[in-house]
Amino acid sequence: MKDNIKLVILPLYRVENDYSFSVFNNLENNKNTLSLESLENNLSKLHFKFNFSEISIEGGEISLLSDIYFDLLFKLLETYNKKISVATDFVNFNKSLINNADVINVLYNFNHNSELVYKNIKAAVSSGKIIVVKSIDLFVKDNPLDKISNLNRLKIKSWKIIPYQKTKTNITEVYSPDIYQKTVLEYKKLSEYMQFSFLNKLESEGIIKTNNFPINTVYITPNNKFGLGKIDTNGFFYIEEVEDVDELEKKLKEFQSQQILLCRDCKYQLNCLADRYFNPALVTKNDCSGYKNLIKTTKGK
Ligand code: SF4
Repeated sequence: MKDNIKLVILPLYRVENDYSFSVFNNLENNKNTLSLESLENNLSKLHFKFNFSEISIEGGEISLLSDIYFDLLFKLLETYNKKISVATDFVNFNKSLINNADVINVLYNFNHNSELVYKNIKAAVSSGKIIVVKSIDLFVKDNPLDKISNLNRLKIKSWKIIPYQKTKTNITEVYSPDIYQKTVLEYKKLSEYMQFSFLNKLESEGIIKTNNFPINTVYITPNNKFGLGKIDTNGFFYIEEVEDVDELEKKLKEFQSQQILLCRDCKYQLNCLADRYFNPALVTKNDCSGYKNLIKTTKGK
């Protein structure tokens, strides 16, 4: 039986110039755009070994791409999985992206780009699309009630706070599981004011399950290569490209064994809130970026 993977297509690393929170912004000089011809070839090689339980299109800022590119990309991906989600900063309202995506994840940080992003989220919500708004903890920790009112006005269905991710050009703040967990708990206390689902609450209570561990996430990069997400010794996220599917399979297995070894003494046994930016260096007896303190505080066990 084939193993399941979460497949993340990265058509480009480029972002808008003033957008500083891409996890790939150390690669913004990479001008490549994924070739659809080589993607077709790579998908069939990959599918020979793995099932694509989820497919997501991310970047870079994908709304910079043309409608024609998206029409072809979705057509190609839908032969493997009908449900395709996307992650965008929504600086452009790209019609093909809106029409074809099953779920649109939008990064919205209540900052200088917000007005345009706010307008585009509203338009996408009125077209009946499922929008999941995500905001980085550092941008929401102050004035939570104002942030909640702002989101209520958007009439979105769900919202999630995501942890700040350190990148090579974005090191002004320090990533800490503690800041993230405190921010989420603060908002949990205010959930009665929310007219949308607060995903962090549902996930920490085990009502919905996330499956975002790096150990089953495979990337296809703008350089037409397969890739795995890694965190280096300085805590920076990067993609390690690999040459072929056999090497990918081998590295994925190594990765999975390392994770199992790392988590062997933890009672949550990978049923935690770790995401694909999980940092192995932060695993301690008392906490880690699987956010065990958040689960413990919520469930009391
Ligand atoms: S909470 Fe941390 S140590 Fe426990 S299983 Fe998750 S990642 Fe591993």
